[in-house]
Amino acid sequence: MPANKTLLILPGDGIGPEVMSEVRRVVDWFDRRQAVSFDIDEDLVGGAAIDAHGTPLTDATMDKAMTVDAVLLGAVGGPKWDELPFDQKPERGLLRLRKEMDLYANLRPAICFDALVEASTLKPEVISGLDILIVRELTGGLYFGTPRGIEELPDGTRRGVNTHVYTSTEIQRVARAAFELARKRSNKLCSAEKANVMESGVLWRQEVTKLHQAEYADVELTHIYADNCAMQLVRDPKQFDVIVTDNMFGDMLSDEAGMLTGSLGMLPSASLGDADETGRRRAMYEPVHGTAPDIAGQGKANPLATLLSFAMMLRYSFDLGQDADLVETAVKNVLDAGKRTADIAAPGSETLSTSAMGDALLAELDKLAA
Ligand code: NAD
Repeated sequence: MPANKTLLILPGDGIGPEVMSEVRRVVDWFDRRQAVSFDIDEDLVGGAAIDAHGTPLTDATMDKAMTVDAVLLGAVGGPKWDELPFDQKPERGLLRLRKEMDLYANLRPAICFDALVEASTLKPEVISGLDILIVRELTGGLYFGTPRGIEELPDGTRRGVNTHVYTSTEIQRVARAAFELARKRSNKLCSAEKANVMESGVLWRQEVTKLHQAEYADVELTHIYADNCAMQLVRDPKQFDVIVTDNMFGDMLSDEAGMLTGSLGMLPSASLGDADETGRRRAMYEPVHGTAPDIAGQGKANPLATLLSFAMMLRYSFDLGQDADLVETAVKNVLDAGKRTADIAAPGSETLSTSAMGDALLAELDKLAA
């Protein structure tokens, strides 16, 4: 018998616990089928951890995150904790997890389910069938580079400084992750930077090209300036398959790509670190959305972004592509049958509660597995 997969679930705040309890039913469904078994630990993060322990992430929870096979997180934050100083806010828990687990590759798929084509602001022929993946470097670049700060100048004016800095190692490791992912998809990778105006962009292009020639010549590699990439994403997004880019450009391009498909309640993500000597990669999976305080506790939240994050876990942490396909097919079929939570429903049509969406998914999984 293979060893059970170890999983740390951190539901967090707001709608986090509501959506996570529906996803937990799906995890338990897989457990019951015994195709894949999980040892699950559940713990607090964000505001919930502040209320219980006075810190957004205890050392004990951090230690667990470092040892499990994968972390599944809901969302953190909310008005209750908005007035706390920056270094004590719920979001610090999330940032600590990303930093200490060294999760440098952020994967954001943008998939357009046929049933939701109308939810996009783009024309159906531009968006239908879209399935692209943005790989964003997550731990380097402009958001972490030094020097940084706001300084007073001798003439009494002020200057804000951030530094866009990348080492060849940082570029190579995220590019390697992207090449590997491209090989599992259509074998096409597009690398986006601003080599026309930034030295860090020149280095980015050189390092990606070098790695391509040395190890991934079988993958079709193209380069694009990040501003052109932003335009091409709304003009003809299906020209892309996997896009790799730095932290800041990835922040924007992945939000843009995500919104092509219509709803925040549908967008999953994965953040991956390096593989250890046993081949296990540190990994955290979470929806793109936040805690939605406006609908929290009302049974209105869409659990599909978190569920699709679980599907990514099956695919990327456990190499269980068929089980991931099963979850994604269940989501597709449920949507095709017109079942929607309020955020993705057509105006005036009937909507499902969070738990009714969970019921519909489990019924569909039973049908698919029969
Ligand atoms: P949000 O994503 O929480 O909500 C934006 C809008 O989308 C709201 O109208 C909300 O109702 C809706 N929405 C989001 N997820 C939904 C879902 N699953 N189903 C149905 N509707 C959904 O963003 P926000 O309002 O800017 O932030 C609210 C709180 O969440 C803040 O405290 C913010 O700091 C936090 N936040 C956390 C994360 C995270 O934990 N990763 C990410 C973003 C925001």
